Amino acid sequence: MNETLAQIPQPQTHDRPSWDEYFMAITRAVATRATCSRRSVGAVIVKDKRILATGYNGAPIGMRHCDHTNGGDMRDGHCARSTHAEQNALVQAARYGTPIAGGTMYCTDHPCLTCAKLLINAGIARIVYESAYPDELAAALLREAGTGLDRSPAETPREPSAMQRRPAEAGE
Ligand SMILES: [Zn+2]
Ligand SMILES: [Zn+2]
Repeated sequence: MNETLAQIPQPQTHDRPSWDEYFMAITRAVATRATCSRRSVGAVIVKDKRILATGYNGAPIGMRHCDHTNGGDMRDGHCARSTHAEQNALVQAARYGTPIAGGTMYCTDHPCLTCAKLLINAGIARIVYESAYPDELAAALLREAGTGLDRSPAETPREPSAMQRRPAEAGE
């Protein structure tokens, strides 16, 4: 009996991803559904190791996608048509009545100022992100609110989105 058990291959625990790596990999997959041609961002809300909501950036449900050819759908150097991934994850939780307070949000990108404020008000306790975003005020606000903020130690750098491969435009 013991001999038989010994022959059963045991899971190689050292090869398993950490929970943060696991959920960040899923968040990267969520980002691939983004519909804005300028940037692909994913967000996943997790609590007690369970996924409660997901979001990616794109135009409102049922509406045509962004069309940024010739500078369309833009305002002040930003996409004017898409909702941010983090906001879409919060909205999904609201729409289905899922309590998310105390949860962790995984994002492929550091939240912007507006998303940071919404995440604070939604009671998100911790944010794990992968790519930096040049918004010191958003980071300062999250620190002030006591929201945990961790940059994911990505083993392999994230594949740059179509947007990030292009030279940055003014006001981006
Ligand atoms: Zn767009
Ligand atoms: Zn945002």
